[in-house]
Amino acid sequence: VVSVHGLKSRVLADDGNTYECAVRQVLKSLSIEQRSILVAGDHVLFRAASLVDGVIEEVHPRHGVISRTSRGQQHVLVANVDYLLVITSAAEPGLKPALIDRFLLTAQQCNLKPVVVVNKIDLVDPAQLQPMLGVYASLGVRVLMTSAETGINIPYLRCLLEGKQTAVTGQSGVGKSSLLNAIQPGLGLAVATVSADNDKGRHTTTAAKLIPLQGGGAVFDTPGIRQFQLWDISAGEVAGLMPDLRPYVNACRYPDCLHLTEDGCAVKDAVADGRIDARRY
Ligand code: GDP
Ligand code: ZN
Repeated sequence: VVSVHGLKSRVLADDGNTYECAVRQVLKSLSIEQRSILVAGDHVLFRAASLVDGVIEEVHPRHGVISRTSRGQQHVLVANVDYLLVITSAAEPGLKPALIDRFLLTAQQCNLKPVVVVNKIDLVDPAQLQPMLGVYASLGVRVLMTSAETGINIPYLRCLLEGKQTAVTGQSGVGKSSLLNAIQPGLGLAVATVSADNDKGRHTTTAAKLIPLQGGGAVFDTPGIRQFQLWDISAGEVAGLMPDLRPYVNACRYPDCLHLTEDGCAVKDAVADGRIDARRY
């Protein structure tokens, strides 16, 4: 499903054709109670009624969902997100590890596979970033240094995203549009238009959509991604969402330990003797 407007959606079929699809009656009655019955990124079974339209019969189970909670209800924004591309830049603006950590927490919470991209690598000596990026690599997070300017690792990134559904996040100015345009001309422009609208305060009325990649796969154009960034994680949940801290959590003396000033904190002990990176802590 490329996009959804009410009960109509655009579906990209395996044969490469696009169909306008209505949701079959049974799904329609469901959708009245549950607004996110069908979202961009969903994989569906549909029956073509003509060369251009058809009917959605079935929505396949989802993985990697980005959602937003409002008034106690969860609204799914996009489904079947294979990668969360966390785009940062080595300079202008400089790398902000605390921000990367927050994105990784959210990825963990939503069950998304993160890929950290450090763009503008042409502006610095990559060796100076190694110690910090090595910590992420040791957590099993894929880290990729790129330059949209000089083309470093662009073919690799293009290859990585092929056949995958990718959501993109990162603060403004890091080169998200430039990178996406380097992968495929026009791709970044399409995504950037919507976020620029958001900056002016025209929120959330634009639904998420998928922009297909030439080599297969697609990038999500997701206006709601800002809220997603601010999605609340309570203090007590944080350590459990960090793969480097999690193994120690159960060994703390108090079950509700926040690993700050408590006695008998196994996390603090692990930081003290270097088993946990001090900055990550
Ligand atoms: P966005 O706000 O994240 O979409 O960032 P943009 O793609 O608009 O890029 C912000 C600025 O950074 C622009 O002036 C780009 O020309 C510049 N830029 C983007 N990628 C690179 C890069 O790899 N190297 C350098 N030196 N500049 C870049
Ligand atoms: Zn503790």
